Amino acid sequence: MNTMYFTEEHNLFRESIQDFLKKEVIPHIEKWEKTGSIERFIWKKFGDMHFFGISYPEAYGGLNLDLFYMVVLLEELQKINSGGFAAAIWAHLYLAMTHLNKEGNDDIKQRYLAPSIAGDKIGCLCITEPFGGSDVAGMRTTAVKEGDHYIINGSKTFITNGVYSDYLVVAAKTKPELGNKGISIFVVDRESEGLSATKLDKLGWRASDTGEIAFDNVKIPTNNLLGEENAGFGYIMQHFSLERLVMGVNAHARAEYALEYALQYMSEREAFGKSIDKFQALRHSISDLYADMEICKEFNYSVAYRLNKGEYVVKEATISKLKSTKMADEVIYQCLQFLGGYGYMENYPMARLLRDSRLGPIGGGTSEILREILARIIIDKKEYNPKT
Ligand SMILES: Cc1cc2nc3c(=O)[nH]c(=O)nc-3n(C[C@H](O)[C@H](O)[C@H](O)COP(=O)(O)OP(=O)(O)OC[C@H]3O[C@@H](n4cnc5c(N)ncnc54)[C@H](O)[C@@H]3O)c2cc1C
Repeated sequence: MNTMYFTEEHNLFRESIQDFLKKEVIPHIEKWEKTGSIERFIWKKFGDMHFFGISYPEAYGGLNLDLFYMVVLLEELQKINSGGFAAAIWAHLYLAMTHLNKEGNDDIKQRYLAPSIAGDKIGCLCITEPFGGSDVAGMRTTAVKEGDHYIINGSKTFITNGVYSDYLVVAAKTKPELGNKGISIFVVDRESEGLSATKLDKLGWRASDTGEIAFDNVKIPTNNLLGEENAGFGYIMQHFSLERLVMGVNAHARAEYALEYALQYMSEREAFGKSIDKFQALRHSISDLYADMEICKEFNYSVAYRLNKGEYVVKEATISKLKSTKMADEVIYQCLQFLGGYGYMENYPMARLLRDSRLGPIGGGTSEILREILARIIIDKKEYNPKT
């Protein structure tokens, strides 16, 4: 274990998560992967273990721990090989709850953050729309103020936890004529009249529900506005560093898991009278893949360290997601190859890993968009720091 970043307490936390996942989650994963829905009881168990509280204030039932507890949780979630289950958990924990914590007032935090930490309420974050996800500023969903309510109309798509969650954190235009300066963020109850959700079928992340959501004159109290009106785009941008780091950490962890599994398999599988880990071509391939994984992992830890100190890491977090998700796809593709025909079989882990990993360069900002952001930072000297 890397002692530069992880203390004895982090290691004990890792052991407790491993024990919990082994006992409470792994026995159900195959069922959830088949049904595409995660049973409610596990959310409460996560809450009871305080896993949803690690990054949030004690006033709402959290533990307010440093970011390396998050890193540990994310890494261990990847190592049970259900990208969908992991996504359901971290979308609740680091997409929806981040907005509640950073922009919600005390009333919102009592009503939504505290039950989210306890595992009583599940959240999702709704930004992407059917007309386009990359162009966040181009969103068409609107929220019009009428007295002490907003009326929301529009649609969202590809939303993780979009069907089974209890509340939705929703980005909508309050001043469409102002483009990205006219976006606000709201929290919307699932049972709100006029809200409907349709479950989508997808290549991977099968245990998680991914939904398309329609808002047909959905009426919500003005108190459900998060932060200031028309400041939503800035909030989304502020949280992108954390979200990109989350996806970078996920990627290095699933690549590490793939390598660990492949190495074990290769030490047992024989061809031409010897174990296949003795073939030089495969050994050199392992060396390259392992080195790429280690470089990403160490880089991601350094970004977590700096983000934890409150540093401005938009560039670094963007690199983290861009490079780690590409690396994970390449590592997993090759690890599947090491297993030969068994790599292609559903009762071996590589098939699911391969399809789950493919979402890495797409979700939460595609690789093309990340390259564009990096180009603007590197070439045009653009600052994304909301504080400046
Ligand atoms: C399983 C899954 C879960 C998801 N979960 C969530 C969620 O919880 N909440 C949420 O809000 N969203 C979620 N998303 C949406 C995801 O973030 C978007 O799919 C992603 O941002 C891309 O948007 P898009 O699909 O509309 O692609 P588009 O924006 O239509 O892009 C299509 C292609 O064009 C490329 N492209 C677009 N613009 C440019 C450009 N300027 N330069 C170069 N290339 C460009 C893109 O990189 C991509 O390759 C999820 C998606 C999936 C598949």
